Amino acid sequence: MSLHKAPIVSDLNKQTLVTLRTLSASSDANPGSLKNYEKLGGYAQFKRIVTDKVKATDIITEVKTSGLRGRGGAGFPTGLKWSFMPRYFDGTKYLVCNTDEGEPGTFKDRDIIRYNPHQLIEGMAIAAYTLGARVGYNYIHGEIWEDYEIFEEALDEARKAGYLGENLFGTNFCFDLYAVHGYGAYICGEETALIESIEGKKGQPRFKPPFPASYGVFGKPTNVNNTESYASIPWILQHGGQAFQDLGVSNSGGTKLFSVSGHVEKPGNYEVKMGTPFIDLLEMAGGIWKGRTLKAVIPGGPSTAVMPASAILGATMDYEGLSKAGSSLGAGSMIVMDDTTCMVTTLKRLSYFFYEESCGQCTPCREGTGWVYRVIKRIVDGEGKMEDLDLLTDISNNISGRTICALGEAAATPVLSFIKHFRPEFEYYIQHGKSMVTGK
Ligand code: SF4
Repeated sequence: MSLHKAPIVSDLNKQTLVTLRTLSASSDANPGSLKNYEKLGGYAQFKRIVTDKVKATDIITEVKTSGLRGRGGAGFPTGLKWSFMPRYFDGTKYLVCNTDEGEPGTFKDRDIIRYNPHQLIEGMAIAAYTLGARVGYNYIHGEIWEDYEIFEEALDEARKAGYLGENLFGTNFCFDLYAVHGYGAYICGEETALIESIEGKKGQPRFKPPFPASYGVFGKPTNVNNTESYASIPWILQHGGQAFQDLGVSNSGGTKLFSVSGHVEKPGNYEVKMGTPFIDLLEMAGGIWKGRTLKAVIPGGPSTAVMPASAILGATMDYEGLSKAGSSLGAGSMIVMDDTTCMVTTLKRLSYFFYEESCGQCTPCREGTGWVYRVIKRIVDGEGKMEDLDLLTDISNNISGRTICALGEAAATPVLSFIKHFRPEFEYYIQHGKSMVTGK
C-alpha cells in the first residue's frame, strides 16, 4: 500500500539532493532507470574502487569523515559500524539492507527504491567490496509490493549491465544481491529479527551480543544498514566525505529524508540538509493545514518522544538539535498535529500499534504493552481513574530497559512523553469522560 503518489522535494533543495538526486536531474518518465542513473555518474564510483583496487581502510576512512550516521533510527556512525566487520573470515560474509520500514508515518525508503534504486544497489555493492561480502539481501517491508517489484527490475538491469555477479569489471570480485520481501511485521525492522526472517524463521529479535558483525545471517559476519545509509555512499565517494559532512552540521553530516505526515498542506518526503530549522521544513510542507495552529510534533516516528509546539518551534532537524529539544531524530518520520488533535485518543492508537506488534518473547513487553493499551482504552471509554496516570507511568518505566530489543522502550516512550506534556488533557478525560479538545 502506498501512502502517497510521489515525493515532494522543494526547489530550494535540488542542489543538495543526495539520495533522491535522480529526481532533480531528470525529465525522464522513469527517473530511477539505469540510463538516467548512469547519466549522473552512476556506478562510476563502484567501478573505480574495484578496478583501482582501492583499499577498504581508505573507503572506511572516507565514510567516517562524512559523518554519516545510520538513517534507520539508531543513528550509529556508519563508518565505525563498517570497521567492526572482521577483515579476514574463512567463509561467506553477508550484507543486508533494512528496507523494512513499518513504523506509522515512516515512508522514506520506499521512495529511494521507487526513484533511485540503482544508487542503493551501487551503495550496497561498494559496501560489499569494502567489507568483503559475497552475498547481499535487501529486506523490503511486506506492504510495499510495488516497490519490491521495482527493486527486482533494477537488480535485473544491474546484473545485465555487469554491475552484479561474478568477476565484476574483469576482476576477481564477485557480489550477488537479492530482494527479500517481508510480510509486514514491524518487529522485522529490528536487525536480528530481520536476519531470522531472511533465514526463513519466525521474525523475532535475538539476544545481543553477539552482534551481526560476528554472528549474522546463517551465523556468519553480516553488516546491516538502512536503505538511506547505503544510498548515501556513492555520493560520498564521488564528492568526498568532507563534502557530505559539510552539507550538515557537527555530528550530523549530510542530508536527511524526512517523511512529513499529519496536519500539513503538502505531506511527503523532503530531503533537506541536516540542521535545517524545523520551521523551514514545516514551511516546505505547506505549513499547518486549514489555517489551524501547531499543537505537537512526533519528530522521528512514534518511538520518539512527542514534542509540544513550544519545544519544536525553535529546534533544528538533526541528532543533537532534537536531542537538546527533548526528543530524537529517529527515522525522520515527522508526524504533525494541529490544535484539534486529542492527545488521549492519539496515544490510544499508538499504544495499540505497539501492543499488536510486540513479538511476545519478553514478559515486560508482551504483558506491558497490552496492559498499557487496556488502561488507556479504559480512560477513553470513560472508566478511567486518576491513579491510572501513575499506573501508566509505572508500567512504562518497567518495560523500558528490561527487554531483548528496543521495541519495549519504543512502546514506553510515547506513553511517558504524552503524559508528561499533555497531562491536563488526560486528567480532563478521566474527570469528564470525554475529550477536552473534541468534546466527545
Ligand atoms: Fe519481542 Fe517486545 Fe521483547 Fe522485542 S521487546 S523481543 S518485540 S517481546
